[in-house]
Amino acid sequence: MKEVIYVDNNATTAVAPEVFNVMKPFFTELYGNPSSIHSFGGEVASHIEKARRQVANLIGADFVDKNGNNTEILFTSCGTESNSSAILSAIAIKDDRKKIVTSEVEHPAVLNLCKELERKGYTIEYIPVDDNGRIDLDLVRKVIDENTAIVSIMWANNETGTIFPVEKIAQIAKAKGALFHTDAVQAVGKLPINMKESSIDMLSLSGHKLHAPKGVGALYVRRGTRFKSFLLGGHQEFGRRAGTENVPSIVALGQACKEALEHIADETTNVKKLRDYLEERVVELIPEIGINGDLENRLPNTSSISFKFIEGEAILLLLNQYGICASSGSACTTGSLEPSHVLRAMHLPYTSAHGTIRFSFSRYNTMNDVEVILKHLPDVITTLRNISPFWQER
Ligand code: PLP
Repeated sequence: MKEVIYVDNNATTAVAPEVFNVMKPFFTELYGNPSSIHSFGGEVASHIEKARRQVANLIGADFVDKNGNNTEILFTSCGTESNSSAILSAIAIKDDRKKIVTSEVEHPAVLNLCKELERKGYTIEYIPVDDNGRIDLDLVRKVIDENTAIVSIMWANNETGTIFPVEKIAQIAKAKGALFHTDAVQAVGKLPINMKESSIDMLSLSGHKLHAPKGVGALYVRRGTRFKSFLLGGHQEFGRRAGTENVPSIVALGQACKEALEHIADETTNVKKLRDYLEERVVELIPEIGINGDLENRLPNTSSISFKFIEGEAILLLLNQYGICASSGSACTTGSLEPSHVLRAMHLPYTSAHGTIRFSFSRYNTMNDVEVILKHLPDVITTLRNISPFWQER
């Protein structure tokens, strides 16, 4: 098989070998139902609680009940479910408030839910961002009021890596009696997080972004925060998330969080070094490019680069021929290629937004990966610009 240079880790990550190993017995040996009375099931339940502690440790979640369970962590099926659970719970609990505040650059997992709630009569305030993808706190102060049920702002943007001042926004929300939720799917495992020193009420995370399998996530709900599940059924997860637990994946998520905590320093050293070196060399080697996002305040693994006057999809297809897997900042909608809502919110001209590529690294990338990208990328860009009418006419 052709060598794969995988630099699309914000899309999904490889399951870490240690993570894969710990989940295996839960398919064939430890397959009991954790809710069963018999000890065969009870043993499985103890592994779920171990995973819950491991997830709690990574984000500094605190509260442990008399049975040793950290009840601030609820396991879910994915980041999307965590986001929906948080927002739907908030509007059910604060049912006299009819406003939701979010940003223009959230993941569709938040934006599409908000659009649906808008159709049902809620007022949604979409906070804009500036050209560097930053949020103005004065605007936040203006839109959060006594009618706001919940403020949901992502911790870090999946396309540009821009980190938002979620702690400050949480404090503004609290002062108005609103709940604060953050979609931290891209931040957990990449940035140190300590919920003990935080005002954030709810936080979403997803397994497949941090070397656990796809289809498992968690929602942090601060002790004392009222919570209402939209999924009704059995009494799993302290009555807060019905449905028999996906035990192998929950155990895997726990192990992945343990590994992430052990490797968190790598993110700002080794991983960041690869990202920075790529950007440094691209600036030297390729004219007419732009690096997107808040360069002072970005995830250490993420690089969003606009190659002006060409199409991102074409760049990806040519890179793919060399085994390089990255992603574009465009989403294909009904046959027309629209630049992503994030880049549009940042007012990027179409000639830049269309040619934007996201490179996202993990601790499994090496300097050789960057060298392979640098070997091919300049030629790919030149080839495409030579046939681009926009490049000729610029
Ligand atoms: N939120 C952000 C910021 C994401 O990047 C993603 C996945 O791309 C999600 C939510 C959705 O997570 P999941 O795929 O686990 O539903």
